[in-house]
Amino acid sequence: LVPILVHFFVVRTTPYTTLPTILLVGPSGAGKTSLLTLVERGDKTVPTHTSQTPQPVELTVSAGGAVQSFRETAKEDAPGMHKKFLLMDTPGHGKLRKFAMDRVNTQDSLKGIMFVLDAAALDENLPATGSYLYDVLLALQKRMGAGKTSRGPSSIHVLIAANKSDLFTALPVSLVKSNLEAELGRIRKSKSKGLLDSGVGADDVGNEESDNWLGTYGAEKFSFSQMREFDLEVDIVGGSVLEGKVDKWWKWISARV
Ligand code: GDP
Repeated sequence: LVPILVHFFVVRTTPYTTLPTILLVGPSGAGKTSLLTLVERGDKTVPTHTSQTPQPVELTVSAGGAVQSFRETAKEDAPGMHKKFLLMDTPGHGKLRKFAMDRVNTQDSLKGIMFVLDAAALDENLPATGSYLYDVLLALQKRMGAGKTSRGPSSIHVLIAANKSDLFTALPVSLVKSNLEAELGRIRKSKSKGLLDSGVGADDVGNEESDNWLGTYGAEKFSFSQMREFDLEVDIVGGSVLEGKVDKWWKWISARV
């Protein structure tokens, strides 16, 4: 009887950590709230409020790979064919990012991270976007490293969702990728120099530096493929929430949950 009670208790009190979870992260203004609204309400109404608190939304993915709200799922004949999962929004504002980083570090049911960015404003937002992405990837890399000794996730996939492809100023995916890789490489270099100059004893530098080095240690250039060393798969896919062009993102989600 006791184990059953314990199980019941856990399920009842932590509903948001038991379903497979996709975390939505990214800088403010990228389109995260709009994306949630699109899938939750099935419309293209774009909200103007800024998300201050995380808003987990329970959704389903059908056998065909479509992501739907429960309302739409209920209209169909075979609801048993649907997989439930959570899409969890996080505040993009710098001061509120701790919430997202806590989830990245510890959420047990984490299956994937969608990093949403504004592909039409990447030029001016590159430093801010790059440093947020750098923090997320480095945290994941450390988490995966820790998972080799304790119980950790086997692999986590990251989708960089290059939103706003409807705008003519939007960069093509290939340029989003190369710009981000260059920026992450630049950040990596400057952080490693900072460590060396920080007065840390010479013996400590080796370990600390390799632990805090994103991707292949010592590599001259950064590329997303280096994250595979840590069982992290990074994909970049364009789309537009405004035009409802999000099918490829849903496909990515349905393969994760
Ligand atoms: P969040 O801060 O990441 O939650 O971003 P929001 O969802 O609040 O969106 C920020 C702004 O971008 C809003 O004015 C949206 O109307 C706009 N937006 C979101 N998605 C798109 C898109 O695909 N195309 C265009 N042109 N604008 C978008």
